[in-house]
Parts: sequence; C-alpha cells; structure tokens
Amino acid sequence: MIVVFLGPPGAGKGTQCQRLVERYGVKHLSSGDCLRRERQKNTDLGRRAQGYMDSGQLAPDDLIVAMMTQEIAAADGQAGVVLDGFPRTLAQARELDQALGGGGKKVDVALNLEVADDKLELRITGRRSCPQCGAAYHVAFNPPRKPGVCDRDGAVLVQRSDDTPEVVRNRIRTYHRQTAPLVDYYQRKGNLRRIDGNVEIGSVTQAMFGVLDLLVA
Ligand code: AMP
Repeated sequence: MIVVFLGPPGAGKGTQCQRLVERYGVKHLSSGDCLRRERQKNTDLGRRAQGYMDSGQLAPDDLIVAMMTQEIAAADGQAGVVLDGFPRTLAQARELDQALGGGGKKVDVALNLEVADDKLELRITGRRSCPQCGAAYHVAFNPPRKPGVCDRDGAVLVQRSDDTPEVVRNRIRTYHRQTAPLVDYYQRKGNLRRIDGNVEIGSVTQAMFGVLDLLVA
C-alpha cells in the first residue's frame, strides 16, 4: 500500500502517520525528517537544503526526488509506505509516479488532511517532538504524560527551529502556492480522499482508518 499524505504544515500529518504505522505496519517516510537527519550528519545534501528549510521555502525538486526514491526503494518488502511531506510540487508528483511505475507500482491513495489556515499557527508553535524516536506531541492538544519528556523513551522533547511564527507563515504561503495544486492532481487520477483535520486527533484517526481499511480488506 502506498499512501501519500497531503495537507498544510501543522495539519497533524506526523501524528496521524504514527497511527498508520501502528495499525497497518507501513513505513513512515517523512521528507522533512530525512532532511533533518541529513543536516544533523552535516552531509552535502543537508547543507544544500539548510537555507530553504530555515526560511520556509521548498528545497529543489531534484534533491528531494533523489532522496525520497531511494528511501522508498529501501522500504521495499514492507507492508507499504506512507509518504509525509512528499511530493510537494507537481514536478515531484510526476517523478514519483514515474519511479513507482517502473517497478509496477502506483500511489494507491492520497489523503488530504484539510485544516483551516487560522488553526495552523497555534498547532505548529505548540508542537514538540522526540529527537530519539520521532514521536510527536503538542503542549495543549496532545501533551506527554510528564511535561517536556517523551512517553516512550524518556528523552527531552525539542521544538523545531523552523516552527517560529515568521517561518511558519512562510511555510503556509509556500504550501498554498506550490503544494495545494497536488489536490487537483490526485483528484483527477481518482485516488484523492479528503479527511477533515479540524476535529480532535482521535476523530481524524478514525476517519482515516475508515478509508484505508477498505484498501487493505
Ligand atoms: P516538513 O518537516 O515536512 O515540514 O519539512 C521541513 C522543510 O523541509 C520544508 O519547509 C522544506 O524546506 C523542506 N522539505 C521537506 N519536504 C520537502 C519536499 N517534498 N520538497 C521540497 N522541500 C521539502
């Protein structure tokens, strides 16, 4: 099963992806997480992506496509993948289709997690994550049992450096300009499913399972 997860920054894709991993055994591939790992390791790719990430712009398509097609190939043999944050431009979506088609595969479903713009900033600025296991939290909407500490492994939670109000506003603008057209792209292919992301986390998860259970049945 190959799932593309669309939705603006702060919609809750990371949180919902964790739940997909638990239920379906798919691999969660987040392009943003991959890039942050590259930055941490100070690789050429990480250094090239740095300026774009810090200002809330998209990194060049060729860098991202090369990185993500490698990640997808490495996950071959698993129950499937859920792509979070990729594709993010029409060019990336077309390249992804081409790469998958070469191996006789395709995107099975594109989930569009819809959240009103005025909710996004609050969701993002309250976001915290575990640097060890990647678990996602929110100080108000999904707090850890002990403030500032990961429930799973006890690591001290961190805030992303691009989760500041100014960069967040730029990331939302970038989303509308470059990524929102993908909704039409997958709609035309007939595999877009809309999920209302304005409701609480558990209800979003149930709506998502309702769509994906049909696919794996
Ligand atoms: P994210 O964690 O998905 O919010 O991504 C963080 C940042 O990484 C984005 O603001 C972009 O600068 C970069 N990035 C992640 N995914 C992509 C992508 N598919 N295309 C271009 N840039 C990306």
